[in-house]
Amino acid sequence: MASSSSPSRSEEEENEGLEELTLTFRWSGKEYTVRVCVDDSVGELKRRICEVTNVLPKRQKLLYPKLGSKLSDDSLLFSHLQLKSSIKMTMIGTVEDDIIVDQVDAPEIIDDFELGQDEVVDIKDKGVNKQKLRRRINQYKIELLHPCREGKKLLVLDIDYTLFDHRSTAENPLELMRPYLHEFLSAVYAKYDIMIWSATSMKWVELKMGQLGVLNNPNYKITALLDHLAMITVQSDSRGIFDCKPLGLIWAQFPEFYDSKNTIMFDDLRRNFVMNPQNGLTIRPFRKAHLNRNSDQELVKLTQYLLAIADLDDLSSLHHSNWESFTEDDFKRPRHR
Ligand code: MG
Repeated sequence: MASSSSPSRSEEEENEGLEELTLTFRWSGKEYTVRVCVDDSVGELKRRICEVTNVLPKRQKLLYPKLGSKLSDDSLLFSHLQLKSSIKMTMIGTVEDDIIVDQVDAPEIIDDFELGQDEVVDIKDKGVNKQKLRRRINQYKIELLHPCREGKKLLVLDIDYTLFDHRSTAENPLELMRPYLHEFLSAVYAKYDIMIWSATSMKWVELKMGQLGVLNNPNYKITALLDHLAMITVQSDSRGIFDCKPLGLIWAQFPEFYDSKNTIMFDDLRRNFVMNPQNGLTIRPFRKAHLNRNSDQELVKLTQYLLAIADLDDLSSLHHSNWESFTEDDFKRPRHR
């Protein structure tokens, strides 16, 4: 942003925490190494470990005697641990292979929280978070299932509680699918490329989307799938650390197609938008599928909204929190392409 020749305060901030550590850990009789930065948290280390072992972060227990129970605190930063690269940890954890197990004992995160406006701005603009995003852009390669389409906008969708009630049980996963999912995707595909981004592992994303028939529907195509490894961890004063989904990762990898003006993201957790608050729409969570699947109209109404705004030049100038009362008149000077 700043083009001055002397390093600005924000550049200095951005270079903080760049120092890297190579950590060795032992798992299942083998040794592995991963690299983290000193400003990374233990949670981030677990993500790196997941990349090489496929053991989900929540299943990992990290042991290093001198640190006692410190490694069980995901929010702890390496800058507070004084670690040397020469240490060797042990990881205990198993790769899960049954989605039913995941559904039953996954920690439930339904408590969304509101961050103050100032705090959101602070998180989004913080040098260390921009640095984390840049690192993620380098580390995480989005694989396209289908090519990006010229002139289309981008819709990014969460899965759990957005498209699917992952906490209820059913003989057939289709019973837990949000009503009108295929109709919704078919309709908005005319104007939007569609990406799915879940805070779970790629294995579950593929499994769930496959079970719901989202990956082979003849009426629409999914451009890409993203998982928890694409997220970054940020710190807020009022709520501590949490993970979020930075759209900048997608914009950096497909700059000729997508940007902050033509992207909208649906998620039931507002905090996932914290790096790009103007691009997020908080969807009502779809829970208790057996009770609600005959009455839930959210995707029907959102189809109308997405199609109503599809020709606007800048989606980020809208206030998506008012989506239900949006009419064409709200946008005084529509600038159609
Ligand atoms: Mg969700």
